[in-house]
Amino acid sequence: MTLSERQNLIGLTRIEMQSFFASLGVREFHARQVLQWIYQRGINNFSQMTDLSKTFRDQLQQLAQVSVPETLTVRESSDGTRKWLLRLEDDNCIETVFIPEEDRGTLCVSAQVGCSLNCTFCATARQGFSRNLTTAEIIGQLLAVKNDLQAFGYGDRPITNVVMMGMGEPLLNYDAVVAALHLMLDDLSFGMSRRRVTLSTAGVVPAMERLALDCPVSLAVSLHATNNDLRDELVPLNRKYPIETLLQACHRYVAGENKRHITFEYVMLKGINDSKGEAQTLARLLSGLPAKVNLIPFNKSPGIEYECSDQSTIDTFREVLLSSGLMTVTRRTRGKDIEAACGQLAGRFADRTRRRWKFEQAIAPC
Ligand code: SAH
Repeated sequence: MTLSERQNLIGLTRIEMQSFFASLGVREFHARQVLQWIYQRGINNFSQMTDLSKTFRDQLQQLAQVSVPETLTVRESSDGTRKWLLRLEDDNCIETVFIPEEDRGTLCVSAQVGCSLNCTFCATARQGFSRNLTTAEIIGQLLAVKNDLQAFGYGDRPITNVVMMGMGEPLLNYDAVVAALHLMLDDLSFGMSRRRVTLSTAGVVPAMERLALDCPVSLAVSLHATNNDLRDELVPLNRKYPIETLLQACHRYVAGENKRHITFEYVMLKGINDSKGEAQTLARLLSGLPAKVNLIPFNKSPGIEYECSDQSTIDTFREVLLSSGLMTVTRRTRGKDIEAACGQLAGRFADRTRRRWKFEQAIAPC
């Protein structure tokens, strides 16, 4: 069997691994051991999985593999943020960002190669869309970074939080993303709490309904505007799921859940969405929802014409929200010097939609 035909064990949920082992005639409980070897001890080589029988290890050697995306480069920002460029098996590349803080280490994970949503202010959108990531490629980002960080001398659990805020729209790659979320939460793999895993969406309403049932992790919603005309322009998905529909879905997402809140992301674009009146409207829209607002200073990328709001405008906007009782923070921009900040992730890939073919021709293949 060639390498590419072997089953990649990365990306199989506990249940999927159990059925794979059952199909090999092996007792299901071995899935426990293998998950722990791979995710907790970082072992990719079956011969080192010493509590499995020799026969089983040989069988795995022939039929399976543990394949993690390959690290091409790691760039470090002056603020300690690190950005990985990872190569996938088909030579597409994706970016993943690690943001260390005093009390936590957050990994910003990609869900797609590129993005199809076309938000006007986002660099990922400029590159178009290539394909969905597989579960293995999503969870593989955590593994690749964890292994590298451990080699850099970080402790045992460098990644304490995950935000699905990298390239792509996670809810348009639903099945692969939810399987990856289950692996993040599974005690035998990353064992993270639902509180520490956040999925950010531009508002794919039907998938939000499903997520609430399948894997209700913390939710962040990219709102960015307080009226449909403007949001239609900034986040074209709004034409399908307008603000009222989206907010109703948010109410349902947290219904019945104690202490749950939704984070609303709001990019601060000078003269576009940053007036005091819009802050007041935002407060009104979110009243009655357990909500938190994250104001994101706009990060510039080549070819995108917007400007970031002035600091004083951002402060005023924040004060209006705070005074109406909304928990509001201005997101500290991290990793800007290495193009790792929100909306700057691009990776390298061929745009299947051919919208940006000239750009694609201009960049070197990886
Ligand atoms: N598609 C998902 C995941 C992307 S998350 C979503 O839309 O939520 C990345 C966050 O950064 C989103 O809130 C996105 O709107 C925001 N963002 C995109 N480009 C940005 C930029 N140039 N400056 C600041 N924030 C940006």
